[in-house]
Amino acid sequence: MSAARIVVVGTGYVGLTTGACLASLGHRVTCVDVDEAKVSRLSAGRVDILEPGLAELVTGGITGGRLSFVVGARKAVQEADGVFLCVPTPMGAGGSADLRAVEAVTAEIGDVLPAGCALITKSTVPVGTSKRIHAMLGREDVPIVSNPEFLREGTAVSDFLNPDRIVVGSDTPGAARWVGDLYADLGAPVVVADAASAELVKYAANCFLALKLSYVNSIAELCERLGADIDLVTEGMGYDRRIGRAFLKPGPGWGGSCLPKDTSALVKVAESVNYDFRMLTSAIDENIAQRDRIVAKIAGACGGTLAGARIGVLGLAFKAGTNDLRDSPALAVSSVLGALGAEITAYDPAVDSAIDGMTVVDDPYQVAKDADVIVVLTEWAEFKHLDWTIMADAMEGDDVVDTRNLLDPRTVIDAGLSWQGVGRPRAA
Ligand code: NAD
Repeated sequence: MSAARIVVVGTGYVGLTTGACLASLGHRVTCVDVDEAKVSRLSAGRVDILEPGLAELVTGGITGGRLSFVVGARKAVQEADGVFLCVPTPMGAGGSADLRAVEAVTAEIGDVLPAGCALITKSTVPVGTSKRIHAMLGREDVPIVSNPEFLREGTAVSDFLNPDRIVVGSDTPGAARWVGDLYADLGAPVVVADAASAELVKYAANCFLALKLSYVNSIAELCERLGADIDLVTEGMGYDRRIGRAFLKPGPGWGGSCLPKDTSALVKVAESVNYDFRMLTSAIDENIAQRDRIVAKIAGACGGTLAGARIGVLGLAFKAGTNDLRDSPALAVSSVLGALGAEITAYDPAVDSAIDGMTVVDDPYQVAKDADVIVVLTEWAEFKHLDWTIMADAMEGDDVVDTRNLLDPRTVIDAGLSWQGVGRPRAA
């Protein structure tokens, strides 16, 4: 396909990655945001989010004249061939997806979109949103296309440029194929669908991952009660190609900016068509139970009570490789610990902001100072390489609770500490 004129609305994880990557594929991209300060930082090539390769693509796009950043979608879209909506769709009151940002942009640009320009939802939106946007626009000459995004934070650029598949869905099939063609150089399979199916793919995929994680956390709990080792159980499961190795690691519960809101939104969508999605509500309940089991484990390591306990936390981001704290299970666990009276000192290599209810330090060894217990909550590889003898010397107590099964228990024990993970035998 020849270079298309693309506008991307929203310059967060998804929008900025989409804009920078489409520019790197040769398209002419204008990225729009309401955040003026962010737009001026991006125009100067400054990227706030931690995504390998993204800053380089942004700078390359700007210097190559294929990528620019502006405030104000209305002006930007007037000569576009396609407009991608990459604005937030957070969990709204009652648990459904909050579509206000999608609707606000649609209202802002509706009457100035050129005839034939595709309006493309890359934000995660519930089934029926394409129809809703179509009704709002009231224009037959603007096709609506759903093109859900599957990138993962921390590997956003590489995921975008090496996708497992591209999904495009529209009730105007030609427009869906045109959007699929924007990615032709990536050589990925393209699933061309109707709008409702494309919209559902994203929820079906994300919720399946949440189910898998809740399942593995349940199996880890069984391992603890039955004296089995989850690492060996999942190794044995993961070789089965029908199951695969991904998303088989237990942890402090799943979180992040997508799984909690998307599971909740799908339950609500199911309710709207009188389907009680019990499997999914169980996975959500199980996730809360997992967090509570982790808190109980930490309380046990503190001698049964968290009141006055000094806890050193390693990791705050919702997963390693990102500085995103949205719905982080590490924060969820820490906040319950704090509410139960623990004093928390935390370190995360990607986080330097102040956080209510805890002291955030900029050196991992500082979390050990006078700590009764150290808790690993995010799987940053660098925690494996800490000098655990120095940690042990600084601590008051001698317990390490490793909610990611990240550390080598032997190293921790050799430092004179005891180690307990999730679904694994305790080591002391
Ligand atoms: P984000 O919060 O990182 O970024 C959203 C951006 O949109 C912000 O820069 C914000 O200023 C801007 N914005 C808000 N309202 C606007 C408006 N009216 N006009 C212009 N800009 C506006 O969000 P994100 O993580 O990139 O997620 C965006 C969407 O993509 C969500 O629907 C999310 O579910 C979906 N998604 C996210 C991921 C992920 O890993 N983060 C992966 C796949 C899909």
